[in-house]
Amino acid sequence: MRAERLRRCNDALCGARAVIDLDALAHNLQRIRELAPDSRIMAVIKADGYGHGALRVAHALMGADAFGVARVAEGMALRSAGIRHKIVVLEGFSSPEELILVREHGLDTVLHHPSQLEMLEQAPAGATILLWLKIDTGMHRLGFPPVAYGEIMARLSGCAAVAMPVGLMTHLASADELKNPQTSKQLACFQAVAEQHSGQLSIANSAGILAWEQAHADWLRPGIMLYGISPFSESTGGEHGLRPVMNFSTRLIAVNQLSRGDAVGYGGRWVCPEDMAVGVAAVGYGDGYPRHATAGTPVLVNGERVPLIGRVSMDMISVDLRSQPTARVGDPVLLWGAELPVEVVALAANTIPYELTCKLTNRVERVEEGVVGLTRQDARVS
Ligand SMILES: *Cc1c(COP(=O)(O)O)cnc(C)c1O
Repeated sequence: MRAERLRRCNDALCGARAVIDLDALAHNLQRIRELAPDSRIMAVIKADGYGHGALRVAHALMGADAFGVARVAEGMALRSAGIRHKIVVLEGFSSPEELILVREHGLDTVLHHPSQLEMLEQAPAGATILLWLKIDTGMHRLGFPPVAYGEIMARLSGCAAVAMPVGLMTHLASADELKNPQTSKQLACFQAVAEQHSGQLSIANSAGILAWEQAHADWLRPGIMLYGISPFSESTGGEHGLRPVMNFSTRLIAVNQLSRGDAVGYGGRWVCPEDMAVGVAAVGYGDGYPRHATAGTPVLVNGERVPLIGRVSMDMISVDLRSQPTARVGDPVLLWGAELPVEVVALAANTIPYELTCKLTNRVERVEEGVVGLTRQDARVS
């Protein structure tokens, strides 16, 4: 697999690229099935599939029972591309116009606010909508308070536009913190409402799936773990039996022999402690490499770890090549992927892996790899 990746790096263009491993996506979905065999899976592919490309991710995850997106527009884009799966809009509609689009495109939607309920009550007769009623069990972001359950259900049963029964869902605020008591409180709160409910139930994001078996319920909503990434700050996806999907790489475009005392990059904050080789790789924050990655953040040159030095610029980073005296222009540089977990880079850049994969920019060429991909256009989509 690594040889295949390197071969692709020998293509003509030197810029940063993200190889998306479709087999790893399918593997991670299967891993979730093993963890929760009795639950259905709503694969969350919002924000362009966490930066991996929503459509290609959807094609690789046809085995999922539904897809989850944040916005109506994201659901419409999948429908226009021919995706016929159930699609759930996790933020729901927020205007009468969006409600019309939800119905036209056959999207399921989350109901979390009284303003949405009023729009539903005023909607003309027509196609009915599948709804997930969202209860705020303590995150205090989206959802109705538990005490509102009875009244909302009564009003929903009077809405011609709503298909009954509706689902009931909540979202966990701290499931990634194993010792945080908030999750147990949220689960108890949800349970009390669920006892009055006869439809499907959904609670768990990736952290809930991995750490809180009591949260599995009828429908799982995995996001980050589908991409092979751990939702916990103290582990990597591999430790949970997941395979990283994104391999973000570039190449060296310069190798310079610098002298002791030479300052590297903007601001000249990093100074060579001895005569040494410094490599320049064609990636920067203009590609989505985090500008706040600190000196010492690992990068793989020819498969070996070397430290980042100096500031990250828009198009380039510098790396310490003292341990790689034979490195040359054109050599492959891995920023994160199967051999260098994005979780490690996120920690070094004081952020979370979600942000890193989401923030890859359009300049980064996306290349598909894997058997699932070979059934589509020459396995390559940019
Ligand atoms: C984004 C999202 C998820 C997926 O969360 P992960 O931590 O990526 O698994 C699940 N449910 C809702 C409501 C979300 O917004």
